Formats: sequence, structure tokens, C-alpha cells
Amino acid sequence: MLRKGLSMWVGIVLLAVALVEVSAYGKARFDNYVVYKVTPTTQHQLNALRMLEDQPDGLNFWTGVTYLNASVDIMVPPHRIADFEDMLDFLQAKYVIFIENVQKLIDNEQPPTRAGGERRLDWTGYYRISEIYAWLDELISANPGGRVQGITVGSTYEGREIRGLKITNNINNPSIFIEAGIHAREWISPAVTTYIIDAILHSTNTTVRSAVDAYNWYIVPSSNPDGYEFTHTGNRMWRKTRSRGSLLCHGADPNRNWGYKWRTGGSSSNQCTDTYAGASAFSEIETRTIANYVTSIASELKIYLSIHSFSQLLLLPYGVRTSVPSNYNTLLDIGQKTADALAVRYGTRYTVGNIVDLLYVASGSSVDWAMGVHGIPIAYVYELRDLGQHGFILPADQIIPSGEETLDSLVTLITEAQKTF
Ligand SMILES: [Zn+2]
Repeated sequence: MLRKGLSMWVGIVLLAVALVEVSAYGKARFDNYVVYKVTPTTQHQLNALRMLEDQPDGLNFWTGVTYLNASVDIMVPPHRIADFEDMLDFLQAKYVIFIENVQKLIDNEQPPTRAGGERRLDWTGYYRISEIYAWLDELISANPGGRVQGITVGSTYEGREIRGLKITNNINNPSIFIEAGIHAREWISPAVTTYIIDAILHSTNTTVRSAVDAYNWYIVPSSNPDGYEFTHTGNRMWRKTRSRGSLLCHGADPNRNWGYKWRTGGSSSNQCTDTYAGASAFSEIETRTIANYVTSIASELKIYLSIHSFSQLLLLPYGVRTSVPSNYNTLLDIGQKTADALAVRYGTRYTVGNIVDLLYVASGSSVDWAMGVHGIPIAYVYELRDLGQHGFILPADQIIPSGEETLDSLVTLITEAQKTF
């Protein structure tokens, strides 16, 4: 009896462990989740969407609510669709369905040969953090002369390292810091950034070579590895860090958490939203440690780039209304040339402008901090492909074209920037 009772308890405990395992590692599915592109045309509609954004209750805002006549991409779970459309009709809001079944896009995102096993980077698929780090290690050992060094710029809540490369072409060169993948679900960002690392090290194109060799580079392909891994193992649509904020709602938005005019608009104090600014500036170990690293090299840095997706925008600081860069016109001019260069190869059009003008107030971003605190003169946010047809779930066969056109634009950006130093 005792044995039987004991084995029953062992069984229950094992079952409980198994259930936790499933809930900890089972992947969220998005079957029949729909993405609506809603365009508010009245102040009433705009206010309603803003309220919804701060109390989303199951809705997921893929792009933020900004201004009148600017569309907002909202992912809606199937059990909320009827109420959501009812609300849009009540508001008489204009909308189109952009994605009919998010899970279908997720199922087709990676090429079929990509499943399982450690893979080498060839930009035909999206990679796990261990694969990206293994590739960095290969590059470091293939370049023993000291030109390519591994750097650890920070650490994460779950104890991972935030790793990158330092590429020194000439000690007298100005330096560029590229921070990618700070938003976990924006997979094209680490993908394009590793493509750029490869080009910096291996391109034989003379225009590319002379442009990239005139700089030294600090490049971090994944600035939020906890979140990035969670998008592979738990929830493809995760954006934030993985810190424990409240019982149910984890993480803070690591691009609303930097310590320049922190939480002065465009971020949330609601832990359950995707733009939660954190309990304080630099509450997140990821932003805090990366910021410490950047501070240690800030005097070398002339350019700071933050790589995101999606919307095809090139944004310049600041994300707050109370600050304007002293070189605003220069940034706008370089930005326009950069976007023109990006469009040449595949006709991909980017819009260029200030964060507040093109999107909305967004305080606590890394570019604001880089420019506002350290005076790094050239800073931009890239919002890579596309315009919402796939949103964050850009098919892997767009990685190489995105990498090519982004590299084209980067060559122009750094060449034009150099004329201003
Ligand atoms: Zn982002």
C-alpha cells in the first residue's frame, strides 16, 4: 500500500514535471491569428486605438499607434476577431486584413531543410543564437592577427553572454557600433547584420572594400539573446527581454529602457504591454551592460546604428519632442542618400525622417541615448523589410536580398558620413 501510494505520488510528481516541461518549452501557435492594418482617420478612432494599445488584452500591436491617417498593424487571436471587427465597425474605422493566418507564415518562414541540427550560416535561413556564436568563433579563429576580435558587450537575465565582433582595420579609423536584434522577434535584423559582418570581412567589391576599410567596427548581431531564443523555443512573437516583471507579464521593452529622457512618452508603465519601459532606466541587465560597454568606447564612436524591422524606414533621433540633433539637416541629407542607394538594387523604398515625425514619441531608445548622452554625431534606426505583408515573419529567401540592399545603403551612409568628420 505504502509502495503503491509512493509510486502514485512519484507518478504525479513526474506528470507535474512533464506538464511544466511542456508549458516551459511548448511553442505557442498562431493558427488563424489575423493581422489587420487599421487606419485611423478621426481623432476618436486614434484615441480608441491608443487606449487599446496600452490595455491590449490579447491583441498584439505589430506597429505602434502614431498619427491620423497612419496605419497600425494589429494581430488578433481567432477568439477575439468577432469583437475586434465589431469594434472597428462601431468606430467606423478603415481596415484591411493583411495576414489571414499568422501560423501559416511561421510554418513557411524557414526553408524545409532548416529543421534541427547545428547549421552553418549561409543566409538561407534564420539561426539560433548558438549557431551565430559558433560562426563568430570561426571568424575569430580564422583571423588570428588581431584584426577580428570577439567581444562580450553584456549579459542577460537568463545568464547568456551578449557577444559580437570588433573589427580593427586601422587604429586611426573612426568607429561604428551596430546594435541589432534588440527586439527579439525581428529576426531579419540579426540575419542582415551577420550578412554585413561577412561582407566587411570577405567582400571583394572595391567600392565596398574602400568604404568599410575606412572604419573600425563593433557589431552585436543579437542584443537580446534571451528574447531571441524564446522566439525560437516558446513564442515567435516575443519582443521584450525575459526578466520577471510581475507574476504573469515578463520582460521590458529594451528599446524603451535606455537612460536618456527615459519614460517621457511613447512607452508604457503597464508591465503587460510590449512597450513597457521597465521599472527604471536601465532596469534591464541587457541595456545596462551594453550601455556600459558603449560608454567605455564612446570616444572612438562616430556612428551608432540600431537595426530593427519592419516598415522600411530610416529614422533619425530624437524620439522625444524636447530634443533636436544639432546636425539634423546633415542627418536628413545623409539619410536620404542612404535610402536612395538602398532602392537601386531591388527598388525597395525606405522613408527617411525623424522618429517623432515618422512614427511617434518613443523615449528611452538606444539611439537617443547614444546621441544625447555621448554626443555620437551620426545615429540611425533601420526598420528593415517589409511593409507588413509578412511583418516580423519575413520569409528566409528575403534575407540575402535584404542583406545586399542594406549593405548598398550602408556603404553610402558611411561614405557620406565621413565627409562630415
Ligand atoms: Zn524593433
